[in-house]
Amino acid sequence: MIYPLVKMSKTQLCILVFFTGSICIYAQQNGLEKEPTNPEATEFYSPVPPKVIPAVENNGIPSDAIVLFDGKNLDEWISVKTKERAKWVLNSDGSMSVKPGVGDIQSKKEFGSVQLHLEWKSPEKIEGNSQNRGNSGVFLQGLYEIQILDNNDNETYVNGQVGSLYKQQAPLAMASVKTGEWNTYDIIFHAPEFEKGQRVKKGTITVIHNGILIQDHVEIKGTTEYIGWPKVKPHAKGPIILQDHGSPVSYRNIWIRELP
Ligand code: MG
Repeated sequence: MIYPLVKMSKTQLCILVFFTGSICIYAQQNGLEKEPTNPEATEFYSPVPPKVIPAVENNGIPSDAIVLFDGKNLDEWISVKTKERAKWVLNSDGSMSVKPGVGDIQSKKEFGSVQLHLEWKSPEKIEGNSQNRGNSGVFLQGLYEIQILDNNDNETYVNGQVGSLYKQQAPLAMASVKTGEWNTYDIIFHAPEFEKGQRVKKGTITVIHNGILIQDHVEIKGTTEYIGWPKVKPHAKGPIILQDHGSPVSYRNIWIRELP
């Protein structure tokens, strides 16, 4: 084989290298590379995933989570309007409640992609109907709302019902517990990406409500508007916002894990 290679011109050599390389890439991409014959060839030892102590073994909070609310105080929260200390109600049972009229509150810290856990409860006293019964909401990056609503025997538009990505995506199921009992939301949010004022990657959201998958890696079209279509608004990291929609919805055990 060496002899003919020596006799080749530079151009012929280049063509040979190009075609050989192309065949190798084609073989790799189409799974035609040589099948390993021993198990070790497909076993990797790095990078080693970090050890995280799960919530069940760590007082309800994973060891690497940032605690946003543990029932002791509202130190991690400020008013969206005034940026002063949040003035919602701190309850003796380790929860906090919307103080209607005070306005939305936001986390002091800002986040990109996250796993967020929170628990929420509709008011036991049933008042109002449709969007005016136990309405609140959790906003990722302050812009994308997952609806919180008392939907038990309470009809409303499906893309605004409990667990909806508000006015963009109805949930796959209505998984609420009884009014006045605690619900859990586990949310996996991948932030949209922007470059030079343009969105280059849509955000996505997955929501598990009381253990039931209700949003399955849904692409976020834009901001969750009350009136009008979603807007694409370039932004950096943003806070978690909890909504005051005039109903004393309660929250407890809020923690968050930043995702790579
Ligand atoms: Mg809402």
